[in-house]
Amino acid sequence: MQYDFSVALQKNSIDIDEFIDTYTSCISFGDTQEHRPTYKYYKKIFTIFKREFQKKELLEVFEELAHFKLSREIPYIVVSNEVYGLENFIIANICTAELSSDELINSMKLFKSINNKIAQIYLTEYLDVLINRNNIRQSSLSDLVERNIIQHYESHLIWLSALARHIKNRDTSNFPELDPSYCKFGIWLKNEAKMIIQNNSKYNSIINVHKNLHTFAHKIYTILEKEEYHILITYLEKCELMSLSIGTELALLDQILINKKISKDSLTGALNRNALKAVFENQYELSLATSNPFVLAMCDLDYFKIINDKHGHIAGDKVLKLFVDTVKKNIRNSDIIIRYGGEEFVIMLPALSKEKGFQVLDNLRKSFSQVELAYEGSLIKATVSIGMVEIKPEESFKHSFLDEYIMIADKNLYMVKAAGRNSVHSH
Ligand code: GH3
Ligand code: MG
Ligand code: MG
Repeated sequence: MQYDFSVALQKNSIDIDEFIDTYTSCISFGDTQEHRPTYKYYKKIFTIFKREFQKKELLEVFEELAHFKLSREIPYIVVSNEVYGLENFIIANICTAELSSDELINSMKLFKSINNKIAQIYLTEYLDVLINRNNIRQSSLSDLVERNIIQHYESHLIWLSALARHIKNRDTSNFPELDPSYCKFGIWLKNEAKMIIQNNSKYNSIINVHKNLHTFAHKIYTILEKEEYHILITYLEKCELMSLSIGTELALLDQILINKKISKDSLTGALNRNALKAVFENQYELSLATSNPFVLAMCDLDYFKIINDKHGHIAGDKVLKLFVDTVKKNIRNSDIIIRYGGEEFVIMLPALSKEKGFQVLDNLRKSFSQVELAYEGSLIKATVSIGMVEIKPEESFKHSFLDEYIMIADKNLYMVKAAGRNSVHSH
């Protein structure tokens, strides 16, 4: 079938720059105005639109565009929004030119094919990536030295991989369990888990996320044999995100249990330094298993020697305890504070990005600078300098060594000291 929107597009001048600026997100992905690689594809697309064309010819350019976006790891939602933008643009022109409704219907059908083609390309790639990532997650889970609640996450990783494989093979037989009460994880959640985490405020949210996850899987099952790739990919992406958020919650609950077991420094109540390596390695495996970054920070109290000299060692000890108490007020139960030595502490914030981690650390820095210790008639104030580093799961693969991250955090801490202290630095 021949398509021809030339009348509509010639009557109203179309500005490709305007389209690119409004609808494509290539600039925010690091391209400069002059080097917009997406431009090349849309230039081809607009050239085709301005004359008679066959659907096949247009679809080929969109296929190239989809592969290009995939190679840059641009998410499906970004690309699909771009195509919806283009559809709006064309339809608006057809309406303004007051063409027949046939043209409108044809263009809508055409865009349905374009969307589906792109979704199909993305889905094919995504299925393999998801199965691979889930394998890594499973092996990270089995590498964990200490596994409490988190071990139950494994059954849902296996379930999700099975879901991906069924989609890949368009196979509705022996489909992964769709009822959230009967999958292996669901059975655990309704029984044993009730006793362990029922009182935890997260219990109901885990139940709900898990229920929704199965609802999306059910929808996938009902449309599996139809060529509705955009629904398959968006729902499967949802399933992965929800599966990860269940894993994250379980990992945080696990960390609370682990924190309770580790021996504490008798002066401050922080964890002992000899736990550092084990806690870090646990965090590193959990971050791989749940695809979350985590933050490690090195804290050093400022001018602490002066506090000791001026007010004595006992006052100094009390300031150390005050620091740990202030930190605990500012972090979650699943976060970790370890006395590294003297007046130096390591903080680990599981499942937090650099930005959020910075906020937490800066808030605790601020709180500490505002508290006062009343001691023998004096009010003692102190401040802390913090160097932090974000550990991304994909990076942890390359360098999983604690010493390397401690060194980076230390370097950042040194920058704060050099710049005057009482601050947080992350680069
Ligand atoms: P800066 O801002 O550069 O970090 O200065 P600072 O004075 O904090 O640095 P420095 O590392 O020279 O001093 C740390 C001091 O902490 C020296 C040591 O006597 C004291 N200290 C270490 N452990 C303890 C402890 O358990 N209790 C007390 N009261 N003091 C401690
Ligand atoms: Mg020091
Ligand atoms: Mg110090």
